[in-house]
Amino acid sequence: MVEVGKRVIFHELLTPEEALNKVFNTVRIGPVGTEVVRIEDSYGRVLARDVYSGIDVPPFDRSTMDGFAVRAEDTFGADELNPVRLRVVGNVETGAEKLPSINPGEAVEIATGAPMPPGANAVVMVEYTKRVGDEVFIYRSVTPGENVMSAGSDIMVGELVLRKCTVIREREVGLLAAVGIREVEVFRRPRVSIISTGNELVSPGNPLGPGKIYDINTYTISHAVRSMGAEPIIMGIVRDNIDEMRDAIKRALSISDLVLLSGGTSAGLADLTYRVLDEIGPPGIIVHGLKVKPGKPTVIAVSREGKLVIGLPGYPSSALMIFNIIVKPILAKMQCMGVDETRIKARLAIRADGARGRRALYPVALVDTGHGIVAYPLPAESGAISTLAFADGYIVIPETVEYLESGDEVEVTLFTHQYVPSNLYIVGSHDIGLDVLIPMLPSFVKARVINVGSMGGLYAVKRGEADVAGIHLVDEETGQYNIPYMVKYGVNNAVLVRGYLREQGLIVPRGNPKNINGVEDLLRGDVRIVNRNKGAGTRFLLDMKLREIASKMGVSFEDLVKKINGYYYEVRTHTAVAAAVAQGKADVGIGIRAAAAMYGLDFIPLGWESYDFAIPIDRLDKESVKAFLNLLRSNEFKERLEKLPGYKVPSDIGSIVWKGS
Ligand code: AMP
Ligand code: MG
Repeated sequence: MVEVGKRVIFHELLTPEEALNKVFNTVRIGPVGTEVVRIEDSYGRVLARDVYSGIDVPPFDRSTMDGFAVRAEDTFGADELNPVRLRVVGNVETGAEKLPSINPGEAVEIATGAPMPPGANAVVMVEYTKRVGDEVFIYRSVTPGENVMSAGSDIMVGELVLRKCTVIREREVGLLAAVGIREVEVFRRPRVSIISTGNELVSPGNPLGPGKIYDINTYTISHAVRSMGAEPIIMGIVRDNIDEMRDAIKRALSISDLVLLSGGTSAGLADLTYRVLDEIGPPGIIVHGLKVKPGKPTVIAVSREGKLVIGLPGYPSSALMIFNIIVKPILAKMQCMGVDETRIKARLAIRADGARGRRALYPVALVDTGHGIVAYPLPAESGAISTLAFADGYIVIPETVEYLESGDEVEVTLFTHQYVPSNLYIVGSHDIGLDVLIPMLPSFVKARVINVGSMGGLYAVKRGEADVAGIHLVDEETGQYNIPYMVKYGVNNAVLVRGYLREQGLIVPRGNPKNINGVEDLLRGDVRIVNRNKGAGTRFLLDMKLREIASKMGVSFEDLVKKINGYYYEVRTHTAVAAAVAQGKADVGIGIRAAAAMYGLDFIPLGWESYDFAIPIDRLDKESVKAFLNLLRSNEFKERLEKLPGYKVPSDIGSIVWKGS
């Protein structure tokens, strides 16, 4: 490590494989001991020994049918027209201990699972027999062994039942029970200490002070640890203070097999973390950073006793990503398990940039288009935790690749073991009405909402990736909503379905302290605004109003917006606009009335906008889309929608108002 002043220079960045090799070459990573558990407590545990059977399964010859146990040779030649007549000399139920024996010409009634009486070698199913008094007519012949499971035919005495290192789940425990094993020796769960560092962190449940955020990593990482079969030990939050950090790490090392630390590893404070981690050696720090994005500030150290301390990046999504690629393989090895990840192939929906010499890991959301699966790279701003919650998995762009083009095939590593596709993809502008509609859909509809803004939705429909896109795009020349955009962007594979009206306006603090009455007031020097992102329908609306003002004043649009304090302060949702106003970060923002109402703010109406749905023509026959449209047209939904502040239902809701050609 090179220190320049107080800044740490990352050098010798390693690929994840190089880093893991270095770990495996420096310390012996393997099981941390064994313990004996009862089989009912063995779920997810890993066998520490091979398991052999001490018995035959089944332990005796066993009937597999209800019917009559016979000597097969007595039934030869029997058929519908020439039944054989046998004398019934007894009855055997399951669990019977005393068994009647059979002589030539005799039969015994027998239940499924019951032991075969001595002398019998086959069972005739009850369907092919007729009982008359003491006798039974047999209408079909059987061969020796028919409908009988012989002793040891399932598992034999001395047979290897389960191998060491097998994970015990419902099927495996069945085998253990079948051979009569009550307790098994399994590997001890590795104990993993989790430390979150940062002066800004507060535990959930406590009030947030100024500049504070809730500690996320303690919880994400402890669940991730549990998902790997290990036992998390929550050490809590440690301040950015060398003594506190040193103490916490020392304590953690004394009670656990592995220590996971997060935060404090980015350049700036890193020297502190580095110093503490180097002190636990020799060898101390063995990996100074990874050649991946996100996750460069990952540090791995080894204590004198040979225990690992892994410093994960502070950003929660980055920390989880590095958990996946670095910690998972280590925890797997500590339990003699493999890392069983599921990968599926998909095509990229939009271009994704590489990380210039580093390996890029992108969370992606998957869309099943009906002709293959498409992956949407999600904005990889390391700070956003919501991204990971929406993602189905991640893709990897190798160090040497500059970018991947839309349409390129990618391999997606799933966050779960199975990809369950949705059957209704709603891609576009976020809307509170949709939040009301979606839970009302019939249960067969598995809806997936991906908020990418109106323009993003329009493109997704054009490419046939979305089933439905909610859009509200105003045409600057005519003031007409949506249809001009369907035409201008050539979305000819789709229809536009009439949605509903939303009231747009200026959101101001309660009581309107700055006395704002219209868009003109945004030009006042004493007013700071909060704006929406480019591509958002609401941004188009504001810009249209501003252009009108500009032309009236005879100035250019560009010169006009320069006068607006906060024009470039952008947020991504209606509710984020309201939140910014509520927190006093802005005096005014533009958004829907429902968002203002949510935060108890005042609202100055600007007008009603149309929020409509673009739907590819070939999806109109899809059952989930039909269900969506039926619901949109239903009285039940209309009533619920009208209750939302600033929502209005037009008479032609749900009708097709434009069709591509
Ligand atoms: P650091 O490496 O400490 O500079 O952290 C990088 C970023 O991650 C900062 O914005 C931290 O506030 C954030 N961060 C660090 N630890 C946590 C945590 N446990 N939960 C949530 N955010 C965190
Ligand atoms: Mg920190």
